[in-house]
Amino acid sequence: MLSYRHGFHAGNAADVLKHAVLMYCLDYLGQKEAPFLVIDTHSGAGRYSLTEGYAAQNREWEQGVGRLLDQAVLPPLLDRYAALVRESLGAKFSAEFPPAGRYPGSPALIQRLLRSQDRAVCFELHPADFAVLEDTLKADKRFRVLREDGLGGLKALLPPPSRRGCVFIDPSYEMKSDYEAVPEKLIEALRRFPTGLYITWYPLLARRSGAELNDDAGEGATQQEALRETLLGLYSGNRCAVELRTAAAGGGGKRLYGSGLVIYNPPFTLRKALDESLPALAELLREGQGSWDLRWEE
Ligand code: SAM
Repeated sequence: MLSYRHGFHAGNAADVLKHAVLMYCLDYLGQKEAPFLVIDTHSGAGRYSLTEGYAAQNREWEQGVGRLLDQAVLPPLLDRYAALVRESLGAKFSAEFPPAGRYPGSPALIQRLLRSQDRAVCFELHPADFAVLEDTLKADKRFRVLREDGLGGLKALLPPPSRRGCVFIDPSYEMKSDYEAVPEKLIEALRRFPTGLYITWYPLLARRSGAELNDDAGEGATQQEALRETLLGLYSGNRCAVELRTAAAGGGGKRLYGSGLVIYNPPFTLRKALDESLPALAELLREGQGSWDLRWEE
């Protein structure tokens, strides 16, 4: 049963991190003329209104992208992201009166950065979000939009004919099985396409009872922290883990206090771009407490 709707969270702090990094990686791939393939295993609806519907209910974007859009000076990685979001929203941004355009989810960002020679495959299982996504992308011949399991469908698409590609894995983790399925499917994918650029998102959820801690990943690690360690351990090439926390970790409940990305074969320039951006991002997005981590392993 799929109950998660990304619309409620569009433009929040987690979106800022994942979308800014996704854009950076696609820009990097676009520096060479040779075509690349992007696979978005969990696509969502593609674009989201901030003024009506789900995103307007909790207005999570106000604590996320809303804090970047009126900044005159940002580090380059964030500046590029903010410029593209402004372009998609379509008018001068004001937090009080956000324009009627749409916040670009991962499929819209991919569409914006794909060149004529590149291709993309978007997977989405939720029937309503799939319908919106399909409608948005159906005229774009560079895209295939599939109402299928993105993790299950990944292997068959690899390696891309050009041997250049980016796999973006962004589950909601509403199904506990995602914590096992993500590493499992990544192992298969890496066997076929070890040189691919893989970006996997994971949430940082407030700690609950001791019974829910995962002891395999070290004293007191949560399931999400355990996933990060598993992902870092299953590939031995260039990889990094980036984490952004916008609130304190305690407090219980199922509160998202931050999120992270594990990236395989990241662009070598990403390290400097993140070093420049993460302090500013933690400061801009913090709700009381903001911090970040960047682990680079080679
Ligand atoms: N990547 C999107 C973005 O950045 O704009 C947001 C994706 S949202 C976090 C996760 C989406 O995955 C939801 O829309 C959900 O319906 C969908 N989903 C869940 N399990 C899936 C699966 N196995 N295959 C494809 N889509 C799935």
